[in-house]
Amino acid sequence: MKYGRTYNFSAGPAMMPEEVLEEIAAEMMNYRGSGMCVMEMSHRSKVFQQIRDEAEADLRTLMGIPDNYKVLFVQGGGTVQFAMVPMNLMKNGVACYVETGNWSKKAIKEAQKYGEVKIVASSADKNFSYIPDCSDLDIPDNADYVYICENETINGTTYFKLPDTKGKVLVSDQSSMFLSRPCDVSKYGLIWAGVQKNVGPAGMAVVIVREDLLRDDLPKFVPTYMSYKTHADNDSLYNTPNCWAIYCCGKVFKYLLKNGGLEAMNKRNEEKAAILYDFLDQSKFFTGAVRKEDRSLMNVPFVTPSKEQDADVVAASKAAGFDNLKGHKSVGGLRASIYNAMPKEGVEALVEFLKKYEAEHT
Ligand SMILES: *Cc1c(COP(=O)(O)O)cnc(C)c1O
Repeated sequence: MKYGRTYNFSAGPAMMPEEVLEEIAAEMMNYRGSGMCVMEMSHRSKVFQQIRDEAEADLRTLMGIPDNYKVLFVQGGGTVQFAMVPMNLMKNGVACYVETGNWSKKAIKEAQKYGEVKIVASSADKNFSYIPDCSDLDIPDNADYVYICENETINGTTYFKLPDTKGKVLVSDQSSMFLSRPCDVSKYGLIWAGVQKNVGPAGMAVVIVREDLLRDDLPKFVPTYMSYKTHADNDSLYNTPNCWAIYCCGKVFKYLLKNGGLEAMNKRNEEKAAILYDFLDQSKFFTGAVRKEDRSLMNVPFVTPSKEQDADVVAASKAAGFDNLKGHKSVGGLRASIYNAMPKEGVEALVEFLKKYEAEHT
């Protein structure tokens, strides 16, 4: 690759489109005649206001976000959303969660601080290797919302069909699949995504929330910053936002629009994932860790017959010029994260490497 860059299979922060990085580099010292870098700019300036407004407008176009939804840029990444969701949406103090892996478990643990959490489905029985049936969930009448992690980054599962929430608000953590495929926003009450997985730099989450869920009557303990309404009422400029992340994400939104939008991304992502899954399916050495119909197009966990061999493949992959193929410490094995910005050539090169390794070691 150009600049001596490497095929980086990190789960996040992760690769960004090369042409976006080039544009950012070109604008680094003097953003469009402003005399300064975006990092040095007042968040109240006209120049920055335009960057922010265009980022929101482009995201709205890209996802087809209906007018009755607000788009918020919130600091604190994904983990802060684990708390903001229950703080803002638990009115009756009851929420339903689907437990599908590490990230939904963290969300559950955080929500339990603020109310009663009912786990309405779980795939814990099989090491979170599948998405449980969510077609007939037992949802109490007083539930405030139903929460899913739509793509479990560590476990490598994804929903291809949304749960039947029986009319309750659906909340989704889309961090590791955001903008990877078309999304009908009107099916959700709230979507949030930490942007460092599939969009831009770390330190920010995008929140898309239906207006009627914004509340004036939050409990007093909720910090001003943690109220979605604070951000909605101030165009995400209540305090100094993560200007740099908004700028970089805005570039990626434009890049996606220019390259065919989310339909085109989905097609590319399906092709890329198929290259890797087809290889794993026929391999006698490497095995995919997830039930076929629930396999993520973004995060692909797989194993060899032993932990020692897993470690050896990771070491050999580094020597061959790949990076970050080690599985998350909680599950082991290997994992290739192949987000929007991973070129098809990167996945092809990885498969060539794995093929060769298998031929030489079996
Ligand atoms: C990474 C990740 C998070 C946590 O994001 P942070 O920004 O590190 O707090 C939450 N949910 C999912 C699905 C993730 O992949």
